[in-house]
Amino acid sequence: MTITNRSLFDRASQLLPGGVNSPVRAFRSVGGEPFFTARAQGAYLWDVEGQRYIDYVGSWGPMIAGHAHPEVVEAVARTARDGLSFGTPCALEVEMAEVLTRLVPSLEMVRMVNSGTEATMAAIRVARGATGRQRIVKFEGCYHGHGDAFLVKAGSGALTFGLPDSPGVPKALADLTLTLPFNDFNAATALFERHGDDIAGLILEPVIGNANCILPRDGFLQHLRQLCSQYGTVLIFDEVMTGFRVALGGAQEHFGVTPDLSTFGKIIGGGMPVGAYGGKRELMSQVAPAGPIYQAGTLSGNPVAMAAGLATLALIQTPGFHDRLEAKTSQLVDGLEAAAADAGLRFTTTHVGGMFGLYFSGEHIDSYAKSVASDTQMFRRFFNGMLERGIFLAPSAFEAGFMSAAHSEQDIADTVAAASEVMAELAGG
Ligand SMILES: *Cc1c(COP(=O)(O)O)cnc(C)c1O
Repeated sequence: MTITNRSLFDRASQLLPGGVNSPVRAFRSVGGEPFFTARAQGAYLWDVEGQRYIDYVGSWGPMIAGHAHPEVVEAVARTARDGLSFGTPCALEVEMAEVLTRLVPSLEMVRMVNSGTEATMAAIRVARGATGRQRIVKFEGCYHGHGDAFLVKAGSGALTFGLPDSPGVPKALADLTLTLPFNDFNAATALFERHGDDIAGLILEPVIGNANCILPRDGFLQHLRQLCSQYGTVLIFDEVMTGFRVALGGAQEHFGVTPDLSTFGKIIGGGMPVGAYGGKRELMSQVAPAGPIYQAGTLSGNPVAMAAGLATLALIQTPGFHDRLEAKTSQLVDGLEAAAADAGLRFTTTHVGGMFGLYFSGEHIDSYAKSVASDTQMFRRFFNGMLERGIFLAPSAFEAGFMSAAHSEQDIADTVAAASEVMAELAGG
C-alpha cells in the first residue's frame, strides 16, 4: 500500500490526540488535514506524496539558516559519533554559554533547558524566588509555552485576576497571573499602581509572534522597563521566537531595551529540542546548585543539540546576515501588499527582521484586538489557495511567518505570483 498524507493522518488520529503531537500542526483553524513531511532542504519541504512546498513556517522558527543546512547536519553527525548524552558536563555547553552571553549582552549567566516552555517556567520561578512575590503579569495574545501560569486569560473587567484558559489549570494558580493589553501604556501604569509591590515578574514577547506579528509601539518596551525598575519587578523578555531572528542580539538589541531575564529556544537549537534562560548574574546565581531556586534537566545541554545550535548560531553571525534576511522579508510583504492592492482586497502586513504577519484587514495592526478582528475566513481561503500552489504558510491566522537564509529571489517571486492568483480568486467572491 502506498503511503499518503491521508493514510498517515488516519493512522495518527487513532493513536495521537488530534493526529498530532502539537495542536497547531493539525490545520484545525484553516480546515483540511495536515501533510506529512518526508524530507526538508533549504527553503523547501517535500511531503510523503512527493509534493514540494516553499516553507514559511521553518519548523515554527528554528530553521533560520534553511532546512538541513550541510554545516548543521555535519556538526550533528560528527558530535553524535562521540555519544548522544553523557550525564556529565561537556565542552559544548560551555561554548554555547559563551556564544549566547557574547551575542546578547543582558545575559550575564545562562542555563540550558530543552524547550521554550521549560525556559519560561523556570524564568518565572526565578522571578518569584528572587523577589519573594507571587504575582506575575502577562499580555493578551502572548504565548509563553504551555506552563500552567501562562494558560490564563483575562478576567472580566480591567485589573481583575486571571482565569484558567485550559481545563487542568488550577484556579488558585491562574489567580496569580494578571493580564494586560499589549501596547496599552495606561493599563500597564494602572496595574502597577495597584499591584506593583506584589508583582514578581512581567513577561512578554517583545514582538508578539503568537498573535500573528504585532510590533511594540514606540516607547512601550521602555515604559515597561521603567515600571519594572520602579516597582522591583523582574522584566522578562520571552525571546524564544524573536531571539536571533529580529536581530543578532534579539528584540532587546533591535529596540534597545534591556530586560532582567530572557528566555530563548527555537533558533538556539537549530532544529533540536533546546531552550535557555538567563540574565542578571544577581538573579541567575540563585539557581541551583549555585543557589536555592531549583531547576534541573536530565538531557539539558545535550551535546548533539548544542552542536546543532552552535552551528546555526555560527551561520547567522556571517556579516550582513540579518540585513539580507530583513531585505527578503520586506520584498515578500511588499509583493503581497501590491498583489492585494491589484486585487482590491483589504490586506496589510507587519514585519521585523526575519518575521512577518499577514492580515486581511484594512487597519494598521498594533493591538491584539485589531489582530483578532482581521478576516480569518479570508485567511483560511488564502492559506488553502497557497497550499494548493505549493506554498506553505503558517496554518493559522494568528502565527507569524518566517523567512530563512535559504529562500531565493525566485522563491519569493514564485510566492508573490501564487498570491496574485489566489487573491484574484478571493476578490472574485
Ligand atoms: C514557541 C514559543 C514558546 C514555547 O517554546 P516550546 O519550545 O514550544 O516549548 C514560548 N514562547 C514563545 C514566544 C514561543 O514562540
